[in-house]
Amino acid sequence: MNSLAFSVCSLFYIFLIVIVYYSKKRIDYLENKIYSILIVVTLVGVLLDNISFIINYLGVSTSSIIYFLLTKSVLIYFMSWMYLFVMYVFVISKKDKTFNACKRLIKILTVIFLASVLCVIALPMYFNTEKNAIFPYGPAVNGVYIISFIGIFAMIIVMLCNIRSVNIKKFFPLFIFMFLGIIATFIQYMFPSMILLTSVEAFVTFLMYFTLENPDMKMIEELNIARNQADKANRAKTEFLSNMSHEIRTPLNAITGLSQVLSEEEGLPSKAKEDVKDIIMASDSLLEIVNGILDISKIEAGKLEIVNTTYHPYQILNELVVLTKARLGNEKPIEFRTHFSEDIPDTLYGDYARVKQVILNILTNAVKYTEKGSIDFYVNSVIHNDVCRLIIAVEDTGIGIKKDKIDKLFDKFTRFDEERNITIEGTGLGLAITKKLVELMHGGLVVQSVYGKGSKFTVSIDQRIVTQKAQEKKEIVSNEIKIYPGKKVLIVDDNKLNLKVAGRLLVPYKVDITSVMSGQECLDKVASEYYDLILLDDMMPVMSGKQTFAKLKENPDFKTPVVVLTANAVSGMKEDYLALGFDDYLAKPINKKELDEVLDKYLTKEEK
Ligand code: ADP
Repeated sequence: MNSLAFSVCSLFYIFLIVIVYYSKKRIDYLENKIYSILIVVTLVGVLLDNISFIINYLGVSTSSIIYFLLTKSVLIYFMSWMYLFVMYVFVISKKDKTFNACKRLIKILTVIFLASVLCVIALPMYFNTEKNAIFPYGPAVNGVYIISFIGIFAMIIVMLCNIRSVNIKKFFPLFIFMFLGIIATFIQYMFPSMILLTSVEAFVTFLMYFTLENPDMKMIEELNIARNQADKANRAKTEFLSNMSHEIRTPLNAITGLSQVLSEEEGLPSKAKEDVKDIIMASDSLLEIVNGILDISKIEAGKLEIVNTTYHPYQILNELVVLTKARLGNEKPIEFRTHFSEDIPDTLYGDYARVKQVILNILTNAVKYTEKGSIDFYVNSVIHNDVCRLIIAVEDTGIGIKKDKIDKLFDKFTRFDEERNITIEGTGLGLAITKKLVELMHGGLVVQSVYGKGSKFTVSIDQRIVTQKAQEKKEIVSNEIKIYPGKKVLIVDDNKLNLKVAGRLLVPYKVDITSVMSGQECLDKVASEYYDLILLDDMMPVMSGKQTFAKLKENPDFKTPVVVLTANAVSGMKEDYLALGFDDYLAKPINKKELDEVLDKYLTKEEK
């Protein structure tokens, strides 16, 4: 009666575990497959156990065919359970747990199993009815014992050989099986009516679900592995991009820097001046392409962030007008008109660089895709409380866009009318980036176009107002160069050509330049002399710019502004450098205007 209680309990929880296991999504592992058969086999075994009790209770004779068949079935069940359990332990011990890798093992075990089942069926079996209990004995039963012991022995050997390489947790069911198996055998020996082995097997199968076969845990593990791999790939991509940016920008820095210096050289033949201008234009578009690829990769990795600061919208607008006029040149008969509303606030809070990038993209496209006529640049503002909605529109009389193409306009690397635009440079990235940037700033972008007539791109972006008063529309951009005689600037770069470029670019400012090629030399110079400004490259061998900067800062009296000068211009880099304590950031190729601003900010500080 006591063992009946165990058997009924086992039936109950094995039935539950079958329902739970099969109702969950499972991973297609070999060990899971074995386990899924094992629980069904266990359920059958526990059912047979319960039927045996009923038959015993009903007093069916041991010589009847039903009793005989039932007992043989129970023996076959024992063999099947042991076969699956051995296979399970073997599979979890293997390094490669795929079906193909375990094929031979499965074949061998299956052949042994089938042969033993045939033996159990064929060999004779008798019943002992002593001590108030009925239990089978004879060659068939001994066969089951022998095969089971061989199985247990093999599992112990496999476990001992692999205990270091396999998570010990995986062998818990085997430990528990051995431990409870010994107790059950002992109890059965003492009280033959207590048949507990099926309940032990059911219990072990039940435990396996938690220790080895929890599909949820497996799923989470799989997800974690996949996420780690994706993170790793993403990091590799970002690293590759910043390296690529660095590698391309370094030579570009020399090309643009030196051609800029050359174009300002007096006495240069006009033909040479023209050529230098073309070199500058070509390197500018190359830089634009590099930046475009970097931006789109950043956006796709979800790493492009909007960095808000206070800025003067009129400053952006003036810069954009100057840039657009320069791009238009005098070759095309195009009239460029600006229409800026009077009430644009003086200071706004937003991402200055990204707002400028968005407008510049649509202005540049208008210039590129218009042959004659006009380009109108409208900027209006709608003010509500402390928010200003900037409504920027660029209308051209260019080639226009076919209606069916408008939807595809923002797909990356998409360009239309390739035959017509063959001479127009572009990557098809500009509008894809523009749209993403506008979305990141929670703005809107509308396109209206008539093919052959012209297009109008309208962007609206909300920016917080810092100072309401409309600013005087004074021309901020001037070509006049400020000079700083007597000011000492230290340039640190491991690349000779870069030193030359920076040195040449600084000549017109009349500063006193010192160049060194390593972080250590920089530290030595700073220790012996005072400098008004340090331009420090980051990616240097032995001691990087960041390390040099940290060493400089160790001295509490060190107050010289340090501007990091780097070709690593992936978006977000600037913020990282500023967070480290650098005073400012200059990307290579060095932009003359940005250099102007930096020098003005740090070399005229005292006078301000
Ligand atoms: P790119 O100009 O580098 O090719 P964009 O993403 O900026 O890439 O533009 C995608 C395509 O949209 C362009 O190749 C061009 O065919 C079309 N397009 C963009 N702006 C205009 C415009 N103002 N007028 C006509 N076509 C345009």
